[in-house]
Amino acid sequence: MEQRIIDSIEAIVGKDGYSTKPADLYTYGFDASIFHNTPDIVIQPKTTEQVSEIMKIANKEKIPVVARGAGTGLCGSAVPIKGGIVLAMQKMNKVKRVSVADLWVDVEPGVIYNDLNDELEKYGFFFPPSPGSAEAAHIGGMVANNASGMRAVKYGATRDYVLGLTFVKADGEIVRAGTRTIKDSSGYQLARLMCGSEGTLGIITEITLKLTTKPKKSAYCLCTFNSIHDAGKCIAALIAKPMIPASCELMDSISIKAVNKARGNPVPDCEALCIFEADGETDEIITRDLKIIEEVANETGAVTVTPSYDKKQIDAWTDARKSIMTSLSALKPGFSSVSLADDMGVPISKVPDAVKAFQEIADKYRVTIATYGHAGDGNLHTKMLLDPTDPDEWERGVKATDDIFDVCIDLGGTVTGEHGVGIAKAPKFKRERESELSSIIAIKKAMDPNNILNPGKLEQWEGSIITNLRYPCEKCS
Ligand SMILES: Cc1cc2nc3c(=O)[nH]c(=O)nc-3n(C[C@H](O)[C@H](O)[C@H](O)COP(=O)(O)OP(=O)(O)OC[C@H]3O[C@@H](n4cnc5c(N)ncnc54)[C@H](O)[C@@H]3O)c2cc1C
Repeated sequence: MEQRIIDSIEAIVGKDGYSTKPADLYTYGFDASIFHNTPDIVIQPKTTEQVSEIMKIANKEKIPVVARGAGTGLCGSAVPIKGGIVLAMQKMNKVKRVSVADLWVDVEPGVIYNDLNDELEKYGFFFPPSPGSAEAAHIGGMVANNASGMRAVKYGATRDYVLGLTFVKADGEIVRAGTRTIKDSSGYQLARLMCGSEGTLGIITEITLKLTTKPKKSAYCLCTFNSIHDAGKCIAALIAKPMIPASCELMDSISIKAVNKARGNPVPDCEALCIFEADGETDEIITRDLKIIEEVANETGAVTVTPSYDKKQIDAWTDARKSIMTSLSALKPGFSSVSLADDMGVPISKVPDAVKAFQEIADKYRVTIATYGHAGDGNLHTKMLLDPTDPDEWERGVKATDDIFDVCIDLGGTVTGEHGVGIAKAPKFKRERESELSSIIAIKKAMDPNNILNPGKLEQWEGSIITNLRYPCEKCS
């Protein structure tokens, strides 16, 4: 990057507000996906006005800008694939105002999910989506990805809580979108448009989230099954009852083996299991809902049904579920767990068909696929275990990925339930959203005519997704 541009950036954020050191550039070239690319500069703004001034320079000079939260995204959406500026938002990390009287909280984008909930807990409220990355993910990254997690089945995704937000357009204009009211009718919902836009339409610098009360009680039930198809049938049958679990997590035999090996057997060794959560205000509600879960599990062929109110037991189960991703890489020496088809969504009644199809695809392409997820809302994750230095493994992995995505789209589902599109899902995203594509392209052109905001992602991706890999595999691209 030319020195005169660096000088003008320094005039906005000061000497300690940016870095061009190779070690920093290398580090900020990753997120949690399979991709890596080095930016030219990393900038850490502290205010909306600083973001606005930076965007004016970037727009004039036509420099790519990639906003970055905690970098926990799994499909490359925060990787600066065209170089340029990484706008790292971690210094904008204040919970600015909690208004319990009006049921909202104003936060800066760099606030971490768990930190926000620690603050809201003081008032008896919470922000429910509960991503597995709760200890790290930023609210800005969650809005930009429309993230969710374990509790989405009952409480919805991030977008369901966004009342309004402030964002900076590509040309530096500051826009306040939405409201601080619980209801607002008609008009284009620009705040909603920013949810899931993955940094391609603007830089989010403040968010107003709706508050909701935190249920006082909860209990869990772990059910084991002889097959993942049976577990899927149980989930579909339960959701059809007039009772919505607070969470409903599925693990297949590979995920179970991985966490039991890595974490000292926190869950029973079996072909598949579901961990259900019931929550509410009273013991009566919990008892009633657990009874429904137990009945449905028994009717649909559960081998064991274990309800629990014991915090230690429940923590062991939920920690096991949260540690699947990290445990998988330790399952087979020399193999890594990679995010390719990592986050599909299908109609809930189709969960049994989808999980069965994933197993058939794994056999067809001779790849090891772990299946798990927040299956109560139809959100299914798969991870492939492969040797990331072997081009043949990647080739088979990509073929399996294509088939998995096609199965989910054909079942009426989506290539991404919560992790976003980025690079990894871009080709099949275009298939899924074919009818929306021309509108998506027109919106992007209107909001970012010079194409500087996270260019080359989503609908703009061309070519193979096996490129810019973070792994040492020279013959892969
Ligand atoms: C172990 C693990 C578990 C996970 N579990 C879940 C889960 O249960 N549910 C789930 O939804 N996700 C999950 N994820 C994925 C990821 O944590 C989420 O998608 C999360 O929302 C990303 O937040 P982040 O702050 O890390 O964003 P980043 O990865 O830094 O960025 C994500 C996207 O948001 C954009 N962005 C970031 N900040 C801004 C901003 N201020 N303005 C505009 N655009 C911005 C980036 O450009 C990028 O496109 C998991 C990831 C890991 C590693």
